[in-house]
Amino acid sequence: MLNVPVLLVNRHYAPVSVTSVRRAMVLLFGGAALALDESGNLHDFPAWRDLPVRETDDRLPIIGGALRIPRVLHLSRYDRTPRFGVRLTRRNLLLRDSYRCQYCSGEPGLRELNVDHVLPRSRGGRDTWDNLVISCRACNLKKGKRTPDEAGMRLLRTPVKPGWSTAAHIALTTRTPFLEWQPFLGS
Ligand SMILES: [Zn+2]
Repeated sequence: MLNVPVLLVNRHYAPVSVTSVRRAMVLLFGGAALALDESGNLHDFPAWRDLPVRETDDRLPIIGGALRIPRVLHLSRYDRTPRFGVRLTRRNLLLRDSYRCQYCSGEPGLRELNVDHVLPRSRGGRDTWDNLVISCRACNLKKGKRTPDEAGMRLLRTPVKPGWSTAAHIALTTRTPFLEWQPFLGS
């Protein structure tokens, strides 16, 4: 249960990040955040503790019963919108390229997918958004230490840095976005 994600929104209800139940409870218990219920009402910890745990809720066992795990926490004193920079990671490259080989458009599954340097590293190609693409093992081998042109291969599209917002990135990377999150993620 401690792995259930909780969405944090700032004072203006803009998404800030996703956190763990453990950290969410620290924020709620310490008064740094209020829990948002399904009707849009905010509750501090004592009030939240008194809410019944419903069938659809995830629950946290506490002394004398169970606590409803909040889906959304409101950071009442936090009014910044953190600047969001998409980090150049394998995971984000996979998301940008939709888990699809950018040469043959195959979707062979995670274990068969590599990160390919369009201009090979051995020829000065760098680790940048516009020089890295997802490719299947077969295309990777076929291409070898050549450019796509030299290998007679074509990229599905020109790789660029994704322009994700915080909300879009949360929606992409969280496996189970809850219904309660939708008003904040805009989808
Ligand atoms: Zn391929």
